[in-house]
Amino acid sequence: MARVNNWHLGREMSYPYEARFPERQFAFVFNINRCIACQSCTMACKSTWTFSKGQEHMWWANVETKPYGGYPQSWDIKILHKLHEADPGGQYWDGVVSDERTGPYGQFEGKTIFEAAETTLDPESSRVVGYLPADEEWSSPNIYEDNPVGKKGVRDQLDKVGTELPVHDTWFFYLARICNHCSYPACLAACPRKAIYKRPEDGIVLLDQEQCRGYRKCVEACPYKKSMYRGNTRVSEKCIACYPRVEGTDPESDGVPMETRCMAACIGQIRLQGLAKLDEDGTWAEDRQNPLYYLVHEAKVALPLYPQLGTQPNGYYIPPRWVPKPYLEQMFGPGVERAVERYKFPDRELLCVLNLFRRDNRIIFRYEIEEGPKIYEGNYRGRPFTLYNDTVIAFGEDGRELFRTTVEEPLHVRTNVHANSI
Ligand code: SF4
Ligand code: SF4
Ligand code: SF4
Repeated sequence: MARVNNWHLGREMSYPYEARFPERQFAFVFNINRCIACQSCTMACKSTWTFSKGQEHMWWANVETKPYGGYPQSWDIKILHKLHEADPGGQYWDGVVSDERTGPYGQFEGKTIFEAAETTLDPESSRVVGYLPADEEWSSPNIYEDNPVGKKGVRDQLDKVGTELPVHDTWFFYLARICNHCSYPACLAACPRKAIYKRPEDGIVLLDQEQCRGYRKCVEACPYKKSMYRGNTRVSEKCIACYPRVEGTDPESDGVPMETRCMAACIGQIRLQGLAKLDEDGTWAEDRQNPLYYLVHEAKVALPLYPQLGTQPNGYYIPPRWVPKPYLEQMFGPGVERAVERYKFPDRELLCVLNLFRRDNRIIFRYEIEEGPKIYEGNYRGRPFTLYNDTVIAFGEDGRELFRTTVEEPLHVRTNVHANSI
């Protein structure tokens, strides 16, 4: 296998192909603290792309309740277990979290799904450690919805006296997921037909159904299980990142890049999607005023999902602050403590950027902040805190202003007579 740079892991790793990176990479940030599992995202994707016969089990966008839920069932436990079997006791992170763009989470010492394949799979041509879920594992997308974890060390009992932040004794959270349009896609690596490709203009990973012969190698290899097989056409399908919208060629787009359907439909306003500029080695090029760059590389509140798997996923998550840290660290890597702390005590800029989420469906390429007056001074979560009513302004690809909004939500008083008054 080739040696490629994986900045999530803070080191090089094995991958079946030489590294090739797009100019700009499709990427997104989900703020888990705000997801209410309304499934509007799920249904927006379903009603747009996967409504036909043979697609009944296809949920390219899904929202599962962690820790017990999963679609397909237990997808993450199963792949983590396989990696543990390939490298017992070796799956750990070393080093320190830092401000380096090239390795902000320290270094992963264990084996990725590609590296585990080198030492455990036979024949040698096998490229990715994975598994093929059974049909019943795809049958219940909402399994264990809203099922919480009980008090630690006590079986089958929830906390009965109530609980308070920072960490709940009884807890669960909603994990919204789509294809991560990975920088090192496992689906692409495993396909013997070379039917899966990554677009050079935006890094979106697509599956050519003309080329596919339904071997399901991608379904087996994708650790996130975001490539799915369709029995009646006998080929596989996956999330297409709503590419006409991202290109600005969708009839609704009016020629400007728009966020995807699942982003635009998000009721909880947890989703922000855009395009990240890349350096030649696949790390994010400095782009200080891009909101995604800010959240991932400046504030460092947004972390990749299971970075240890090795695909360098392009979906990032602001972790839920009420969940025990060891669980979150297994899911998002060593940056959790820092991310939760910064999210709990946001500075002026972070508060502004968090207000960009879902104010518009057009992709934000740059933001600016105009400082406003002080509106609160006091204590917040036991610390001194000052709040300013700053204005954040979003700009599109062509540099034109998309919208502006303030930290303090504006108060609108309706007159006695309005459109639907009786
Ligand atoms: S999430 Fe899975 S299907 Fe999507 S690009 Fe990554 S490996 Fe491929
Ligand atoms: S990006 Fe588009 S195709 Fe992909 S999950 Fe979201 S709505 Fe579906
Ligand atoms: S639409 Fe948004 S808030 Fe609702 S389930 Fe999806 S990600 Fe969560």
